[in-house]
Amino acid sequence: MQVPLLDLKSQYQSIKQDVMKVTNEIFESQYFIMGPHVIRLEQEIAAYCGVKHAVGVSSGTDALLISLMAAEIGKGDLVITTPYTFFATVGSIMRVGARPVFVDIDPDTFNIDPEKLEKLLNDMDAEKRTHIKAFIPVHLYGQCADMNPIMAIAQKYGIVVIEDAAQAIGAEYQGKRAGSIGDLGCFSFFPSKNLGAFGDGGIVTTNSDDLHNKLSILRSHGAKPKYYHKIIGGNFRLDALQAAIVSIKLKYLDAWTQARQENAARYNSLFQEAGLDEWVVLPTVTQDRHIYNQYIIRLKKNRDQLRQFLQEEGIGSEIYYPMPLHLQECFADLDYQKGDFPVAEQAALQTLALPIYPELTSDQQDYVAAKIKAFFKRGEM
Ligand SMILES: *Cc1c(COP(=O)(O)O)cnc(C)c1O
Repeated sequence: MQVPLLDLKSQYQSIKQDVMKVTNEIFESQYFIMGPHVIRLEQEIAAYCGVKHAVGVSSGTDALLISLMAAEIGKGDLVITTPYTFFATVGSIMRVGARPVFVDIDPDTFNIDPEKLEKLLNDMDAEKRTHIKAFIPVHLYGQCADMNPIMAIAQKYGIVVIEDAAQAIGAEYQGKRAGSIGDLGCFSFFPSKNLGAFGDGGIVTTNSDDLHNKLSILRSHGAKPKYYHKIIGGNFRLDALQAAIVSIKLKYLDAWTQARQENAARYNSLFQEAGLDEWVVLPTVTQDRHIYNQYIIRLKKNRDQLRQFLQEEGIGSEIYYPMPLHLQECFADLDYQKGDFPVAEQAALQTLALPIYPELTSDQQDYVAAKIKAFFKRGEM
């Protein structure tokens, strides 16, 4: 049996007719950049996330970059984030000329540990603390970071909060949607995200009229009116085709999320029945609505051997992420060392993402669980 990590082809079949209709319409109109489809998607996403404004942009990475620009983060500024995230979170901080300051993660959720964040800020000398201008908590794998303490510390020190919600559209924290808690929320429509476009795309959410205005101007080279530039922006525009396709998919998102949650519950019981406690740690759910962009297990040993074995048996899996960001070569001059963030470093050695996409069948899940059991219990059988 083949069980790919992600199968977008079957999902496409369910939306194909609508997609063909709208793409044809856009081709006939020859109106490709921004326009009514983008405006409509912005309204729909703002409503879905429970915020006042959304600004469509060219990718999740650009959502982070433009958010940092709108918050006027730049040279000499420090931004606190997690070393255990996709590269873009930290790459964007560096690209605006600021520097990241890492805080280790919580071992159960893989999200930034608010106690360590608080300790870092309280222990920091006051001069250095004035340079901390933003926090970027990441809602990794589809579960929100513990936002209340993060928001409290941000308020105490007057720090901007930019949520990296690229993996977490529709995830909730105490009844609030991801992207509606901080000052800005960044989403990605990369095809493998829960709400993916047919190419690159992203969106920024905010409740602030002022930030919304800045984002709109920065998105088109900082021009307002056209050809008159008070600030320097970039080309961060979303195109009409991507917006129209994402808008079609948004109608299905809650059903897809529910299917992912059901798959996760099914895996949990299959693994429990298989008696794998000695080797496998199942995902810890601490927040209201985990949307399972990834279903992550932690292997106490033999992670890489298991992955190899699964591959030979036709099962896709992935390691998100094999090297924490403080140890990346391109960030060597930040002067972090191995051992600085032991929880993130251990996660990088132990985590494995299993197929969780909505169309995954129960037969496929049984097969995955049976193969993992066979791998660990082969000596006993
Ligand atoms: C995917 C992702 C991004 C970047 O999104 P792109 O659309 O690929 O640029 C940023 N942060 C996190 C946590 C992501 O998972």
